[in-house]
Amino acid sequence: MVRIINAKQIDGQWLELSLQGGRVDAVQTSAAPPPVNPESVPMTSVGDFAALAPNTLVDAGGYTLVPAAIDVHVHSRDPGLTHKEDWQTLARAAWHGGVIAVADMPNTNPPTMTRESVLVKAERARASGIEFSFFLGVGLGNIHQISGLLVDPELPLCGLKVFYGRTTGELLYDDLETLARVLPEHGGKVVVFHSEDQCMIDCNHQQYARRLHEKDNAAFAVHSAIRSSEAAHLSTRTILEWARTVYKRPIHIAHVSTALEVELVAEARARGVQVTCEVAPHHLLFSTADYERLGPLVKMNPPLRSLAEVEALNRLVGQGAVDIFATDHAPHLLSEKYSDVAHSPSGVPGVELFYQLLIAVSRRTGLPLAQAVRMATEAPAALLGWRHKGRLAPGYDADLVLLSDEEHTVQSTDVVSKCGWTPYAGWHLPSDVVATWNVGRQVYCREKSGHGVG
Ligand SMILES: [Zn+2]
Repeated sequence: MVRIINAKQIDGQWLELSLQGGRVDAVQTSAAPPPVNPESVPMTSVGDFAALAPNTLVDAGGYTLVPAAIDVHVHSRDPGLTHKEDWQTLARAAWHGGVIAVADMPNTNPPTMTRESVLVKAERARASGIEFSFFLGVGLGNIHQISGLLVDPELPLCGLKVFYGRTTGELLYDDLETLARVLPEHGGKVVVFHSEDQCMIDCNHQQYARRLHEKDNAAFAVHSAIRSSEAAHLSTRTILEWARTVYKRPIHIAHVSTALEVELVAEARARGVQVTCEVAPHHLLFSTADYERLGPLVKMNPPLRSLAEVEALNRLVGQGAVDIFATDHAPHLLSEKYSDVAHSPSGVPGVELFYQLLIAVSRRTGLPLAQAVRMATEAPAALLGWRHKGRLAPGYDADLVLLSDEEHTVQSTDVVSKCGWTPYAGWHLPSDVVATWNVGRQVYCREKSGHGVG
């Protein structure tokens, strides 16, 4: 048994943690810090807790100790798009942000839609050392196979991802009746929706066609006009009504970008719908006012909203109305990004600043830190059905993060993700990740390399 002392709990109490191998064995809190013990080993120097001699005393140096995060929304780009990111660089970026497990979206190449494609991606992910699970994609090509794939115990699938929209691309699907019919009644997994109404988007698109070939930053504001808030509202209403009247099983709305969606989710839940929702940091920290400065670097789907809408969404997050914090980490190269509005790909990186941004969001919204941490740990573990993750409690995996409350200035030269840039460059974030452990094994230490050591 190894004991960690001199760690702060997120609420300011002092924490003592006993570990057995890669598991938490006991947790104690106290109001006062422990006496200094000269025999203790600095926690940042501990590579693997399982390798320590029994009864070793480990000193956390007064840093804040939190459960490592689980990011339920990342785009690994691997296989197929590895010039943007691969599983190795994704893992290093995630550990840097205090994330030890990711749920990857299906729009890799080939898309994650068949048994074969799941197995190929799993082999690549496994080699990186990060914990992972995948969302299966759905389209006309595999609609009749998804049920069998989702219950196949050999496949690391945590759920189904539906890019809800007129079924044109191979990963777009809008036949909700068929979906309800083919998905398993019991033992199924969560269905996650990308919720934007494609018909409304197409209609808006025609209206703004003239501006789509402009390249100046300000022109990117048309992206928000095309993928309007109303398109998100309409789609979310449709999906929630379907879940209430037809599907009646758990669903999850990815990256809500407006307050009304959060209110619709709350109303649906009050009417018995099993629904959760997630928010991404960029929808809380940027607004359409940032196009002028950042242009293509803040083009993502759903897009940025007006300052007033961003404030309204922040207020609801501050009230605890959103279940999960996830980054929608979607890297592209700068050379791809700097194109006209029509051709600049949508998506921003985010996972490598996960905990740093979460603390910033907690400060900005007034959401108590302990509750913010649950949005990144317990709630994602519950969504994915992972019973031994997301808490510092007896029997749980020793997935640990040490946080400092020194300000962290983001520099593009420090970016770990393969894409090599971040929209947060120059930001002063209120906290930084000092070190990360996954099942007792150190995977990142700021002092040692600035990059992952795993
Ligand atoms: Zn996404």
